[in-house]
Amino acid sequence: MKNWMSLQADFGNFQYRRNVYLFALKMSFLAVVLSGVIMSLTIPPLGFFGLLPVTLSHALGFGAIFSWLVGGTVSGMLSLAAGFALHELTLSRAEFEKLSRTDTLSGLLNRRAFTEALENTESDASLVIFDVDRFKAINDRFGHACGDAVITAVSAVLTSAFDELSVVARLGGEEFGVIVSGEPLEARLERIQAVRARIAGGPIVAEGHNIGITISGGVADLVAGRSKQQLYASADRALYLAKALGRNRVVHEREGLHHAWHGLSENSPDAESRGQGGDNVMQAYGI
Ligand code: GH3
Ligand code: MG
Ligand code: MG
Repeated sequence: MKNWMSLQADFGNFQYRRNVYLFALKMSFLAVVLSGVIMSLTIPPLGFFGLLPVTLSHALGFGAIFSWLVGGTVSGMLSLAAGFALHELTLSRAEFEKLSRTDTLSGLLNRRAFTEALENTESDASLVIFDVDRFKAINDRFGHACGDAVITAVSAVLTSAFDELSVVARLGGEEFGVIVSGEPLEARLERIQAVRARIAGGPIVAEGHNIGITISGGVADLVAGRSKQQLYASADRALYLAKALGRNRVVHEREGLHHAWHGLSENSPDAESRGQGGDNVMQAYGI
C-alpha cells in the first residue's frame, strides 16, 4: 500500500496544479475502495453474531455511504493539502536548480552547467572559448558597471548567434564558452568567425557609451574518446595563441599546431610587443 501510494506520488508531476487534483482524486478513490473492502469484511461477521444495531443490508448500505462520504472526502482533502505542499516544493526546487545553473549577470548558463553539458556531449561538436580583448582597459576607462554592461551585451550577441542546438555559457569574468553542434566543422567555424566579426563590426552601447570591442576565440573539436580535460586545454591553448597573434581572431587547434611548428607569424605585432615569440607558443603546446 505504502509503495503503491508513493508510486502515485512519483507518477504525479507536481509541477502542474492539474496533476495535484488528479492525485487527490486517485487517493480519494483508493480510500473509498479500501473502506468498502474493510466494511464488507467486518460487517457480515458482526451480523452473524447479532452485534449489529440494524439489519445486515442496512448496515452494508450505511457502510457504503460512510466510506464514500467520510473516507473519500477526508482522504481527498488530505491529499489535496499534501499535493499542494509538494507542488510548492517542486516549484521552489526547480527555481533553486535553475539559479544554481545560471550566471546572475548575463543570464547565461554558468561554468557548472556548462561543464555538465560538455560532459554530456559526445562528438560532432566544437568547443569555443571566447574572451573579450583588453577588457581590463574598458573597466579602467569607463568603470566596472560599464564593464558589466559590456559582458551583458556580448552575452546577448552570443545567444542570438548560436542556435538552440548549441550551448552558450559565461565561464567567468569576460570569458565565454560555447559548444557548437549540429553542423559540419567548416560551417561551425564560419559561424564562430561570423560572431567575432559581428562584435568587431560595430560599437556596443553600454551605459550610454559607444564602446568598440573585439573578442578572441580558441576552438577544439570533440572527438569520441578524447577527454574533456584535453579538449578544454586545447581550446584554451588556441585562445592563448589567438591573443598572442594580435587578438580579434579565432584560432582552431589544428592552426595552433601549425603556428607552434612555424613560430608566430611575422604580422603579429601584438605578439612581439608582448615578447611572445614562437618559443613561448611551442612551450604552450608542449612541443
Ligand atoms: P586580454 O585581451 O589578454 O584578455 O586582456 P584583458 O584585459 O581582457 O584580460 P585580464 O585578464 O587582464 O582582465 C580581465 C579583467 O576583467 C580583470 C577583472 O577585473 C575584470 N573582471 C572580471 N570579472 C568581471 C566582472 O564580472 N565585471 C567586470 N566589470 N569586470 C570583471
Ligand atoms: Mg580578456
Ligand atoms: Mg579573461
